[in-house]
Amino acid sequence: MPGIAENLIAVGARISAAGRNCGRGETPARLLAVSKTWPAGSVREAFAAGQRAFGENYVQEAVDKIDALRDLPIEWHFIGPLQSNKTRLVANRFAWVHAVDRLKIAQRLSEQRDAHLPPLQVCLQVNVSGEASKSGVTPAGLPALAAAVAALPRLTLAGLMCIPEAGADAALLRSRFHQLAGLRDSLRPALGLALDTLSMGMSDDLELAIAEGSTLVRVGSAIFGARARPGLS
Ligand SMILES: *Cc1c(COP(=O)(O)O)cnc(C)c1O
Repeated sequence: MPGIAENLIAVGARISAAGRNCGRGETPARLLAVSKTWPAGSVREAFAAGQRAFGENYVQEAVDKIDALRDLPIEWHFIGPLQSNKTRLVANRFAWVHAVDRLKIAQRLSEQRDAHLPPLQVCLQVNVSGEASKSGVTPAGLPALAAAVAALPRLTLAGLMCIPEAGADAALLRSRFHQLAGLRDSLRPALGLALDTLSMGMSDDLELAIAEGSTLVRVGSAIFGARARPGLS
């Protein structure tokens, strides 16, 4: 079985090929390695192979790993749903938060971010599939939320993020990614911000996301293997 270093090379090659195929060059998107459920040792292995940005979904698991890996200059991204009682840890232990979908959470992150840290980079999660059970702001609610978040002092609104419905076919996935890119394009002039991050694409669909403009793919199983705790997504 290939190891983490080989998997990172293979995923890097997929990202480059996807970029070439759609005319976006060799490095269309950054690679975020999603290390949820995997031990600190796996992160260390990926770091040794050159990976620097890692994504986590569960606050306590993440903080334990961040503490265990203090000696490494890792850029940590929180990509899971965030409850208001956990915002202080996330505000101060991470560089990025990807799934902000409520003003209250953004306000707490801004208030709780230590003054000596640079602004927290934030993406707003948009519910592009329209599933009632899905987190994410509705496309209709996005402009007001984006304007309010952009005004918060300790955050930088970096862009948008989405997680399309599970089981969607390639055409539907592509239309969801296309929609997120369009929402970003229409927000740009309204806010006067670059919003240069489109956080979309995972192990199974990163090529489709890159073809629609993804600048950051969040990849777990293609790097670390199938997660040992199925059902955790
Ligand atoms: C788990 C997870 C990923 C990675 O999924 P894979 O299919 O393992 O690549 C990406 N984004 C989010 C938000 C996740 O929770």
